Amino acid sequence: MQVGSFIVEQLSEGFFEIFKDGTIQKIGPAALENQHIESDFQRNTIAVGIDPLFISGYEMNIIVDPGLGWGLDYKSRFKDTSNVKTNLDIFDVRPEDIDFVILTHLHFDHTAGCTFVSDEIKTTPTFPNARYLVHKKEWEHAIAHIDQSSGLYGDGYRLDELYKLAAEGRFRFIDRENFFPVRGLELIHTGGHSPGHMVLRIHDHGNTAWYTGDLIPSENHLNQTALPITDTDPLQAKKMKTEILKRAYNEKAVIFFYHSLFKKAGKLSLNKEENFVLYDL
Ligand SMILES: [Zn+2]
Repeated sequence: MQVGSFIVEQLSEGFFEIFKDGTIQKIGPAALENQHIESDFQRNTIAVGIDPLFISGYEMNIIVDPGLGWGLDYKSRFKDTSNVKTNLDIFDVRPEDIDFVILTHLHFDHTAGCTFVSDEIKTTPTFPNARYLVHKKEWEHAIAHIDQSSGLYGDGYRLDELYKLAAEGRFRFIDRENFFPVRGLELIHTGGHSPGHMVLRIHDHGNTAWYTGDLIPSENHLNQTALPITDTDPLQAKKMKTEILKRAYNEKAVIFFYHSLFKKAGKLSLNKEENFVLYDL
């Protein structure tokens, strides 16, 4: 999809079931339509899509939240899996071509694809020439909470591999509320979901798009003002969600979601009850 001068594509890794203990299992699209499994999801697990974003423009290539990265590792048992690398192949882009990796936050379901274990059993950056961008508050929070998973879906931090990237100086820790990594791209610190959570606004030649990370993870969360179960600061999440949705609506912007099952992107309209609905592009 074109947003001004940018090409913006979602790189779907597929559908996954996340269990309460953080285990992740792949599921087929057919299972999503199966009512029996649907009710299991409600009781024991949640079903999510995983859709990293690829942005290209002004001679820059950017990945936002590189996903689970299943199948990247040496001896991985997930061989026939879509991951950020196999998905980039579709667009003739190599991991070496990526200039920036933007991390909205550091939960493992958004960051595992940052690295893989090579044939020499060495932690290796998936994007060897990229600068990895993360908010300073997120890094500090993750380090302080690495062994304290609350047992909630997908909220864990697994930093072992990311420490190596940090040690190699590949991270840029953002300490501002608004940061412009590339002309036309703005990172906005929202907090809410996690203390250092950021969202991305793409604005170029009068066209706007938003990528809302886990602040608004899917189309089903448009009218839920906060997610008390998964937000570390529900009040802040509510404030930022309200503000961002209002802006996106006024801007007639496209919103891209990371965890949607069905509608992965769209523009906003309001129904009779003043609720946001997503309409297809
Ligand atoms: Zn998260």
